[in-house]
Amino acid sequence: MAENNLFQVEIICPDHMFYQGEASMIEFNTSEGQVGILKNHVPETLIVRPGIVVITDGQKKQEAALHGGFAEVLKDKVTILAQAAEWPREIDVARAEEAKERAQKRLSDKRQDLDVLRAELSLKRALVRLDLTKNK
Ligand code: ATP
Repeated sequence: MAENNLFQVEIICPDHMFYQGEASMIEFNTSEGQVGILKNHVPETLIVRPGIVVITDGQKKQEAALHGGFAEVLKDKVTILAQAAEWPREIDVARAEEAKERAQKRLSDKRQDLDVLRAELSLKRALVRLDLTKNK
């Protein structure tokens, strides 16, 4: 892919810079559904939802878990302020299994004081982590 199709990408977690580099496309999940951003995209701000982010730089694709936050899309740069993000090698599968079971139990117990959205988002984060690490 020609060099002029590249744009800057930064994914910033609360305590570290998760990713900084160039990409020809970045795909991630948002409150409006899955998006794929190319260079010269119309500037906008997006709400990031738990999902797998795919960063393509022409020759290679890198995948990571991305758990929520905000994305600022400019014509030549995408900045994501993420709640949390992990590369597959960083994911603790047993911890994600436990989080999944905890969230599923909360949702099925349906206690009156249950914060349903919080439990659903927790379940979704666990499922994204497990999805990214399966077959790896
Ligand atoms: P848990 O209930 O296990 O803490 P969670 O989904 O509530 O899971 P988050 O609030 O999304 O956790 O993340 C808190 C921090 O812990 C972040 O830095 C995140 O990257 C890390 N983290 C959470 N779960 C895992 C996991 N299974 N493997 C690796 N890192 C994780």
